[in-house]
Amino acid sequence: MVDSTVGRIFKIIRDRGPLSGSDIVRWSGLAKSTVSVNVDRLLSAGLVREESRPDSKRKKLKVAENAGHVVGVDIGQTHLAVGLCDLEALVLDSVRIPIALVQEGPEDVLEKVCGLIDDLARRAGVERKDLFGIGVGVPGPVDFARGMPVNPPVMPGWDHFPVTDFLRERFSCPVFLDNDVNVMALGERDRGVAQNAESFLFVKVGMGIGAGLVVHGEIFRGAKGAAGDIGHIGIDHDTTPCPCGNQGCLEVVAGGSALQSRAAKAAASGRSPFLAAQQASGVDLGAPTLALGAAAGDPFVVELVMESGKILGHVLAKLVNFFNPSVIVVGGRFAHLGERYIASIREAVYRRSTPLATSDLVIKRTQLGDEGAVVGAAVLVLDEILSHRNVGKIVERSSDGTSS
Ligand SMILES: [Zn+2]
Repeated sequence: MVDSTVGRIFKIIRDRGPLSGSDIVRWSGLAKSTVSVNVDRLLSAGLVREESRPDSKRKKLKVAENAGHVVGVDIGQTHLAVGLCDLEALVLDSVRIPIALVQEGPEDVLEKVCGLIDDLARRAGVERKDLFGIGVGVPGPVDFARGMPVNPPVMPGWDHFPVTDFLRERFSCPVFLDNDVNVMALGERDRGVAQNAESFLFVKVGMGIGAGLVVHGEIFRGAKGAAGDIGHIGIDHDTTPCPCGNQGCLEVVAGGSALQSRAAKAAASGRSPFLAAQQASGVDLGAPTLALGAAAGDPFVVELVMESGKILGHVLAKLVNFFNPSVIVVGGRFAHLGERYIASIREAVYRRSTPLATSDLVIKRTQLGDEGAVVGAAVLVLDEILSHRNVGKIVERSSDGTSS
């Protein structure tokens, strides 16, 4: 049987490190001697290292971030990004290329993924066999256990395509697949604005809207992996038709596509002089343009931004009452519409949620930028390969090696 104590201690170091031995005793509730024996095992397996700090005599323990590499892959509708990361999900090197996800199909896109991974590994002098694992995020629902997309609306050719099998055959390392929103939530947990938040909500406002739920530090996927699909929560009294067959779904009212089409109409009708001028000069009416318009004080754009923030906030208020997160992180391209947008979300959430649920609630915009999904995909694989059980196995294997 694999010893889970060593895995538990490793997780404490990974989540909260750098830590001293007595910090670990405090966090784990284990005896000092037990901690000491297991820390020695982690040190000799090379999974943790001592960090000497100029301000402290005692050495602190942290993950040996250079003990191996993992790869984070972010497959989007129009881009493909791949990052080579250390064992703390720090991106060491990355590459981003344009793709057309719908037209290209899974084999072609995954061939590109393989090529980019090899390029990055070669640049870093890392061999294929030294990759600890690969994490992949895709813009659609995923059967996590089987490692395949299931009925993904924006990537029809990928339905039930065995993504993880495909990459595992090439690289002979563990591969994990999840939807982009869950992956981005993991990125926020380890390297973003939700660090140290036990339970939080990540909301992605892209062309559609989705959410990732982190409960006690882990992604909550639900019975079938559909948890967090908040884009189709109905907005009261709204009759906008949604491709799903219902009316007034959140994402057809407040998602990026909806905002862009309303912006295009306001540009065409002249209702927004700012948008009309932008369109006349050939500028795309996407999130950056809307952010500029809001900052410039164009009345239509300001109203559009604040109204969509308010609608999203009303839905989030219901989720806050239900789930009571400590943090809500707003990410995705349309999260960057300016402070008025976040302020409107906040106001609606506070107005509609119970005082107890909002007493310490923090609502923030992501700071991870374009790299968020790559970082999160690396965290996805790290969570799996450095789980309690696996760390126990790695340590056992390494001590077998030294004793025989
Ligand atoms: Zn819908």
